Amino acid sequence: TNVSQPKHADRSKVYMADLESTLHYSLRVEATRAATLSGAQLAAFKCYVSTLAKYFPGRPCVQTYLQSLDGWLKNWTEPELPRNVLKEAMKNNRDASHPAVLPTNVTWVGCEGSERQFRGYPCGLWTIFHLLTVQAARSGPDKELPLEVLSVMRCYVRYFFGCQECAQHFEAMAAESMDRVASRKEAVLWLWSHHNEVNARLAGGDTEDPKFPKLQWPPPDMCPQCHKEERGVHAWDESAVLTFLKVHFSPANIYLDYAE
Ligand code: FAD
Repeated sequence: TNVSQPKHADRSKVYMADLESTLHYSLRVEATRAATLSGAQLAAFKCYVSTLAKYFPGRPCVQTYLQSLDGWLKNWTEPELPRNVLKEAMKNNRDASHPAVLPTNVTWVGCEGSERQFRGYPCGLWTIFHLLTVQAARSGPDKELPLEVLSVMRCYVRYFFGCQECAQHFEAMAAESMDRVASRKEAVLWLWSHHNEVNARLAGGDTEDPKFPKLQWPPPDMCPQCHKEERGVHAWDESAVLTFLKVHFSPANIYLDYAE
């Protein structure tokens, strides 16, 4: 059992503890709910892990963990993957010359809610996918595979995200406009603007943590240059938002406080 300590998270930072907690929960809890993975669900899982292995800016032992799991899954060519076999393959290996370790504790820092039912995993999942879209935009040619990360998120949410209502809402947004994303930069902005759409829909609702009201993000105090006014109406400066997202979700802004 984890003893919860008072944490003083800074909203302008991303915390490795949130990211690793989210990975642990998604891989070892959400993905192993079904007795076997097969078909589109197995394909979605393989895509998720290979995208993490490619783009997740983790600590060396976590990157080794993701890469070795990805390699293991690529070698699994049978149509069904039993949960027990997968669980065994997802165990940590501390003894190798290159340890492969994804911590098994769940510690929320930037994603910690004021009460247990708030925030945590869904907050971490958004954060991971923002980070992955930004990493993809920094690394490859802008027009190449624009949907590489978003389509993985769409599949993950559809086949694994435990909140079914969330999954339905997200799939509806994806079906409406995701296919029009034509570059990696647009993918970053698509996820940002649709996350804000979700924030607007949920503001004031009963899943909102009263200590963390749903905002249109980033708020002006975090990014003044992201906001402008056109004929007296609020508007976003999208190129400033893109610049902001690339800095906020960059490896240099990920802090190791509270990581195991
Ligand atoms: P979150 O919205 O989880 O955001 C996490 C962090 O991301 C914030 O603290 C902030 O630092 C940053 N952030 C906020 N907005 C943006 C943005 N626009 N762009 C980039 N970064 C941003 N809950 C429901 O009740 N109903 C739903 O239908 C629903 N659908 C969901 C769909 C998906 C795909 C996901 C991942 C979650 C969904 N949730 C839904 C959960 C909900 O969106 C929140 O994750 C949850 O309420 C926790 O909110 P939070 O305050 O931690 O902030």
